[in-house]
Amino acid sequence: MVPLRISAGLVIAVLAITSGFSGRSDLTAFAGQDSSAPAKSLFSQSAVLVLEREFPSSDISYLLFDARTGALLSSRWDDPAKPIPLGSLVKPFTALAYGETHGNQFPSHTCRGEASGCWQVHPHGKLNLVSAISVSCNSYFRALAENLTGEQLIPIAKRFGLDPPEPTLSGPPLMGLGDRWPIAPVKMARAYLELFHRRDQPVVREILAGMAQSARSGTGKGVGQGLNHPDALVKTGTAPCTHAHPAPGDGFVIAMVPANQPELLLLVRVHSVPGATASIAAGRMLHRLEE
Ligand SMILES: [Zn+2]
Repeated sequence: MVPLRISAGLVIAVLAITSGFSGRSDLTAFAGQDSSAPAKSLFSQSAVLVLEREFPSSDISYLLFDARTGALLSSRWDDPAKPIPLGSLVKPFTALAYGETHGNQFPSHTCRGEASGCWQVHPHGKLNLVSAISVSCNSYFRALAENLTGEQLIPIAKRFGLDPPEPTLSGPPLMGLGDRWPIAPVKMARAYLELFHRRDQPVVREILAGMAQSARSGTGKGVGQGLNHPDALVKTGTAPCTHAHPAPGDGFVIAMVPANQPELLLLVRVHSVPGATASIAAGRMLHRLEE
């Protein structure tokens, strides 16, 4: 495990990454508040330049939080309080609603790929909750959502601070398919922080184990690869695009690092790619912030 160090330099770096990349003036402003700033601002400037070069602003939106305090450290996102479809990022909350209505007993389900309504053509095979979260299997979550209603999701949404679904909504929209359960990105990010706070609760423990597995070998493995180590909790999602120049879909990633005691939470949206591809960008961004 590579320890993550959040330094004053990092905070300067991430603040400087904020919208518009105003670069030196931001760095100078924050350097005045930190006696060790001159050396660190050099690092910060190079980190910002690397991020700018590798992650063109027109395609990438992000929210970066201090995972311990919930404070927003940096963002580049037009109106993160406006609810939008976030795809499979809702799946942990679908699982919690299913758990509450089924005595926390989850099915063992066999995904047959496209034939059973999965996003992946080839079957995921036999899955439990942990592996279903890891690979974000739509077939498994279709089965969970099949008899759920928006009404049953509302107490979960309230507990985690999410925009609630319509009470009459049912089935696939409740596991993130389509655009009928929009949620504010900033609320979704904080809901994952709340999920970690509840890490000792039975179903939550399995969800977090699935997110750790996702970073190693699931749809979030781009984060593990980008970081050069898989010490992260990751959930990916793909949803209908809401950009002015629409694409078939946008990829979403929530990554918390390090896995056992997250210090950062990064929510990334990448225009016109699936969530699994967006996770590569999220991993690279976090890698730069760790350096
Ligand atoms: Zn599947």
